[in-house]
Amino acid sequence: MPPTLDTPEALTHASAADLAAALADGTITSVDLTRAHLARIEATEPAVHAYLAVDADGALATAAEVDAARAAGETLPPLAGVPVAVKDVACTKGLVTTAGSTILDGWVPPYDADVVERLRAARMPILGKTNMDEFAMGSSTEHSAYGDTHNPWALDRVPGGSGGGSAASLAAFSAPLAVGSDTGGSIRQPAAFTGTVGCKPTYGAVSRYGVIALASSLDQIGPCGRTVLDTALLHEVLAGHDPRDSTSIDAPVPPVVEAARRGDVAGMRIGVVRDLLGEGLAEGVRARFDESLQHLREAGAEIVEIDCPNFAHAVAAYYLILPAEASSNLARYDAMRYGVRVDAGGAERTMAASRAAGFGPEVKRRIILGTYALSSGYYDAWYGQAQKVRTLIARDFEAAFERVDVLVSPTAPTTAFPLGTEQGDPLAMYLSDITTIPANLAGLPGLSLPNGLAEDGLPSGFQVYAPAMADDRLYAVGAALEARLHAQWGGGILDEIPALPETTTTSEATR
Ligand code: GLN
Repeated sequence: MPPTLDTPEALTHASAADLAAALADGTITSVDLTRAHLARIEATEPAVHAYLAVDADGALATAAEVDAARAAGETLPPLAGVPVAVKDVACTKGLVTTAGSTILDGWVPPYDADVVERLRAARMPILGKTNMDEFAMGSSTEHSAYGDTHNPWALDRVPGGSGGGSAASLAAFSAPLAVGSDTGGSIRQPAAFTGTVGCKPTYGAVSRYGVIALASSLDQIGPCGRTVLDTALLHEVLAGHDPRDSTSIDAPVPPVVEAARRGDVAGMRIGVVRDLLGEGLAEGVRARFDESLQHLREAGAEIVEIDCPNFAHAVAAYYLILPAEASSNLARYDAMRYGVRVDAGGAERTMAASRAAGFGPEVKRRIILGTYALSSGYYDAWYGQAQKVRTLIARDFEAAFERVDVLVSPTAPTTAFPLGTEQGDPLAMYLSDITTIPANLAGLPGLSLPNGLAEDGLPSGFQVYAPAMADDRLYAVGAALEARLHAQWGGGILDEIPALPETTTTSEATR
């Protein structure tokens, strides 16, 4: 039974799949749907701060065009008229894009990222740009230059990072779908912390053209949603070959929507990565994970234990490779062509003063680390060694996938931590990336879905890994587990989320 979508709340709380169906059969209009989301943004933003910029006019213009096209009998793409939020790492023509950094304060890109072009071609109204850790460095969104995002589950908790804004917009029902980027877990860990779904596709499956670079050999754009099917629907919009990105894969997109609709794991071999169940794993997260293994067994999958011994070195290798690539990518912020400029007399002094003023402490820390790792005399010892570890991790995956179809682990070792707790301790924050980083180092796809509430009442995440270009398997496992978890919890866990303090209850957006 499709839900009745006759109130603003019904419109903001429905799944993207249901919204797309209601738009297609004319039960609702995209303008009403977009207005409901803009009003919800206005009501929840003072508490959550998921957005850095809201484009009410742009979103409503797209919505009106879609409604007119539909009325004229045009055939439209599947998600036409369904609004979407975009992480502030992707360039949006005419709409301010900062990557959460002061150095890009007020910068308006002259062009769209490939993924944004695809959203426009899919006729999806873009609600705005979501908050993130500066240049996507972090696991809590606290490194944003524009203030913290609060986890809608508990406002004193982080939403995860670096894509905390996209995940929080979904959990706050201020967007039905969102785009994220994942270099070491920035889609999956925030999904786990907010009770939402997020997928890091195979490296090269989604174009990086027009996405502000962090570490180019690890960066991957991907879809975020509240259900596995919704996430798959957005995945099919974002993925596809783009000649403007030299690492873009020229092959058909795996059938992720079909896999999500079928949600079948009968006969599948699922490997539990024993090395990701070690120290630091919260008891409640572990308990939910074990229950989910049982669900998958009951759905007909065979569960086996797998060792990936080199995963133990993943964090160390990542925190050399990432800073090395980032230090080189961020060299372009020289205050000459764009970005904030602090005039200090002469090009070199101006560059130094601008970078000193424009970059935050975490970015500076990583530029220094990366420059050191790449410097002559240290290159082989640090960067070269890390690249070898990266190969060993890829081999662990290869060996595992000879025995199993997918691998699984908790998405993050804990639930969302309180704001302010790990910021003073970068190492603690880095270590919590252990579960998500291996996928980026090996270029493989990974998906996180809500795995019920831990004993502290906060969401935990279940992660699935698949071989390259087998992203459809993530969705098959995700959908099978989601169906069983919905049966166990009497619905999606977002039904349990405490009500947010709202500032207005108008159904009309005034921005
Ligand atoms: N937490 C990781 C980091 O700080 C992930 C970043 C990301 O995926 N963008 O690097």
